[in-house]
Amino acid sequence: MITVKNLHKSFGKIEVLKGIDYHVEKGEKIVIIGPSGSGKSTFLRCMNLLEQPTDGEIWFDGKKITDPKTNINKVREHMGMVFQNFNLFNNLTIIDNITLAPTKLKLMGRDEARQKAEALLKRVNLLEKAEAFPSQLSGGQRQRVALGRAMVRNPAVFLLDEPLSNLDAKLRATMRTEIAKLHQRLDITFVYVTHDQTEAMTMGDRIVVMKEGVVQQFDTPQVLYDTPDNLFVAGFMGSPQMNF
Ligand code: ADP
Ligand code: MG
Repeated sequence: MITVKNLHKSFGKIEVLKGIDYHVEKGEKIVIIGPSGSGKSTFLRCMNLLEQPTDGEIWFDGKKITDPKTNINKVREHMGMVFQNFNLFNNLTIIDNITLAPTKLKLMGRDEARQKAEALLKRVNLLEKAEAFPSQLSGGQRQRVALGRAMVRNPAVFLLDEPLSNLDAKLRATMRTEIAKLHQRLDITFVYVTHDQTEAMTMGDRIVVMKEGVVQQFDTPQVLYDTPDNLFVAGFMGSPQMNF
């Protein structure tokens, strides 16, 4: 589904991604984890060219998206993205926030978009807020709307950047389950950024551990835990004393 070859990204003189290779199978749930500033968000944003890589190749479902001839907007129609700081349009109702993109992009008609949006709101327990405005919702509710908005387009791939970071512990657990259910149901591919070890261990089929723009190890939670490649991975993925 996604292949990344020797990806480099610099901002000015600072090299943030230092040659990343990775491959995601269709239907996999990949978690990217690492300390703050390790390049997780930059890596995710490169995957739909919100950031232009300095060097390297990115392939999406057989298309080389780093090729300038590729129409990235067409490719993005198959990607749902939820940012770290989700942005809802404050002057639009919740339902309009969700239906705006699919109708604008002419992916579906107005009625179909509305039906889908209502079904999604029901699933994340927010149907009664359909006609409310973002300012009338709590942070957690807004975050669920942002997830719903990404889901309505039925994307082949979800790119999620710390989508649960603003939620309290209880809601985070609920939403984690909701995301896992969504994944089972739709068999879509997830790339999920977090700095939370529990979230990574419970949600990832495979986990990318990053440090300073370099992938330290990319494997299943079990392998990372049992046979970490280095002390950084050992310390980051387990209780340090035990893993060391
Ligand atoms: P993470 O998501 O792991 O916390 P980021 O990918 O956001 O890390 O950032 C990695 C590094 O790149 C940081 O040092 C950050 O300051 C820098 N960086 C990110 N975006 C930009 C930008 N647009 N311009 C300059 N530096 C940036
Ligand atoms: Mg980040």
